[in-house]
Amino acid sequence: MHFVIIGNGITGVSAAITARRLLPEARITLVGAESAHHYSRPALMYLYLGHLRYADVKPHADWFWAENRLELLHDEALGVHTAARTVQLAAGPSLAYDRLLLATGSVPRIPGWPGRQLRGVQGFYGLPDLESMSRDTQGVAHAVVVGGGLIGVELAEMLHSRGIHVTWLVREGRYWQSVLPAEESAMLEAHIRDQHIDLQLTTELRELRGNAQGRVQAVETTTGQVLPAEWVGLATGVQPNLVLAQAAGLATDRGILVDEMLETSAPGVYAAGDCAQHRRPAPGEVAVEQLWYTGRMQGETVAHTICGEPTPYRRGEWFNSAKFFHLEYQTYGRVPAQPTAGIASFCWQHPNGKHLLRINFCGADQAVTGVNTLGLRQRQDVWEHWLREKTPIGTVVAQLAAANFDPEFARQHEPAIRRAFAQQFPSIAVEKPRRKGLW
Ligand SMILES: Cc1cc2nc3c(=O)[nH]c(=O)nc-3n(C[C@H](O)[C@H](O)[C@H](O)COP(=O)(O)OP(=O)(O)OC[C@H]3O[C@@H](n4cnc5c(N)ncnc54)[C@H](O)[C@@H]3O)c2cc1C
Repeated sequence: MHFVIIGNGITGVSAAITARRLLPEARITLVGAESAHHYSRPALMYLYLGHLRYADVKPHADWFWAENRLELLHDEALGVHTAARTVQLAAGPSLAYDRLLLATGSVPRIPGWPGRQLRGVQGFYGLPDLESMSRDTQGVAHAVVVGGGLIGVELAEMLHSRGIHVTWLVREGRYWQSVLPAEESAMLEAHIRDQHIDLQLTTELRELRGNAQGRVQAVETTTGQVLPAEWVGLATGVQPNLVLAQAAGLATDRGILVDEMLETSAPGVYAAGDCAQHRRPAPGEVAVEQLWYTGRMQGETVAHTICGEPTPYRRGEWFNSAKFFHLEYQTYGRVPAQPTAGIASFCWQHPNGKHLLRINFCGADQAVTGVNTLGLRQRQDVWEHWLREKTPIGTVVAQLAAANFDPEFARQHEPAIRRAFAQQFPSIAVEKPRRKGLW
């Protein structure tokens, strides 16, 4: 069997490695246009910060691929002929496949603002973006970042690390308001401003202005300000990369449409990771998942199906984490951004504005449904257990110490959290705290 994978990101590589384990004799080819070897995309910012070198962000040594008989082609797939089962490459000869996986990832979603083409204006997704950013931010005094998501905060931190003054334009009235409840947004807004980032909410980009050499020098905002900017980072989201799928005539919507086996509209052709859209997501799950760990899970799952062990994709308990200038964010289960009927929400904040814990719960049994933390590291296995078992909030608050990820190094906030809970929910009994490990 020849298994061809387009895209050597986490999804494609996870599929290749899993398939090699399941089918030792199969021929497996990975085609990647961006880089010769797989690298960790979330680690890109650490290259700019100077914390890591490129060799450090490659999860596998260069010899790994040949050792495991995974053929790498640093090439671009230009077309797929699903009837003939071939892939046309830009440089090499066309490839015949038995099974094909599209793991083509995302592309930045950038509106067509006037001045978008000026030098010094860019998105941030891959190695070419890192290269242009490194080149074009040299000697820059003022930069503007547009867009309030997780790539926006990375850009702000990267620029700030080089002493560049950052103005950050965010369309919404509060920070990451589509994801975070109001208290979390407020804590992060204060924290970001503490870093001397000029965070401007309810403010959008109107146009980019250049100098005679075609280089950006200022931006005009929808609030009428003209801000100096010799570099502008556009972090207004990503969308599934559909170029190849559409050229091949596959069914697409926002992403490449797949069933629960991650198979597309063409038999023998699969799609997974950022580029895929689930036709029928399970209740509470999203149709397009654009995360590192979901890419890995989808890649591993689809490899089982392709190797003759049909396995439907099930993500399981939702979790995510991020970092906002050293302030860590974790979420497990579901925590809606807005108050929701039928769901009670306990929220504790440390007076220093650097630690927050929110636990949602619902129903007659007061089962926990989700948790958000800022500045507190929690143990994933403990939270998954509590959520899966629908553990009552009284039990969880009593046993919180069990979820503390680094009790040796972090201050113990559990007594203060229990006092706050008793004040906010005096009618709910909290069991006597137990020793760690008894959950
Ligand atoms: C700056 C940044 C930071 C991030 N940080 C985090 C984080 O902290 N945590 C998290 O969960 N997620 C993070 N993400 C998201 C995460 O990186 C993605 O969800 C994940 O990389 C998706 O993996 P993928 O393999 O599906 O696609 P990708 O990583 O996009 O890989 C797809 C690859 O396919 C290649 N390709 C596409 N078309 C072709 C073609 N026709 N021929 C050949 N090759 C092709 C592309 O060049 C690309 O290299 C971050 C994303 C970015 C941009």
